[in-house]
Amino acid sequence: MAKRRKAALTLLGRSEAKLPASPAEARLETFPNPARRNYRIHFETDDFTSLCPVTGQADFARIDIDYIPDRLCVESAIAVAEAYQAYALSFDYGQRHQIEIEAACRVANSLGAKEHRVAKIDMRIFGGSALTDDLDVPKKRSETEIARGIPITYVPARNTIFLSYALALAEAIESTDIFIGANAIDYSGYPDCRPEFIKAFETLANLGTKAGVEGARFHIHAPLIRFSKSEIIGKAIELNVDLSLTHSCYDPSPEGLACGECDSCLLRLKGFREAGIKDPIRYAKE
Ligand SMILES: [Zn+2]
Repeated sequence: MAKRRKAALTLLGRSEAKLPASPAEARLETFPNPARRNYRIHFETDDFTSLCPVTGQADFARIDIDYIPDRLCVESAIAVAEAYQAYALSFDYGQRHQIEIEAACRVANSLGAKEHRVAKIDMRIFGGSALTDDLDVPKKRSETEIARGIPITYVPARNTIFLSYALALAEAIESTDIFIGANAIDYSGYPDCRPEFIKAFETLANLGTKAGVEGARFHIHAPLIRFSKSEIIGKAIELNVDLSLTHSCYDPSPEGLACGECDSCLLRLKGFREAGIKDPIRYAKE
């Protein structure tokens, strides 16, 4: 989840792209610019960047394009950056099953994470969630039911706790960039998946660390936060992520097959349907 930023580049103008020394990676992006306006393109990387600690699915970096008046226009730009090194972080937090951690390991390996650490924390001491307590995971809910209110699968303050660990790892390895796969679209019910929360945590990170006080700028990236599930799947396909390695189900069978009926399965299946792609994982009831 934490990444060590090696290089990022901001380019301006039609012909001002500069190539850094090898072994950097070069890409050519072309942008329509009918109004002949001016843009700044900040390129980070469009490769896989990290794992969602909850689902083990991949997150992706982003390309930000800001409009800047009164400067050179960009019709095309060569954006160059060295990739981040991924330090993946997953949590064995007392959830109902270990399968998502195994999936996270598979994904981290397949995508070449520099390290994958698993933090063992026991959130069962708090309970209060169908994922960490002896409560049934809701099944076969309609889209309206899923969208209504905060579900019983909400784990108290989970993303605050996960991000705190990620912040500790980032500070320890001198990274300033933390990526999390939070998504606010389908699950409007999770308060710690909202952009406001991510922003607030970023403020906290910069106030509450030695690195922050000494001038480092932490960034919490949530590149999937406004994507629909089908857009996430489309992005994964575009970036050649092997989705058969991933896991989303809250309540898999002992053999690790997804139930196909919990909210997480239903949203995943809906996303694949909308993307027009068959989900490559196996379900208990095909
Ligand atoms: Zn399920």
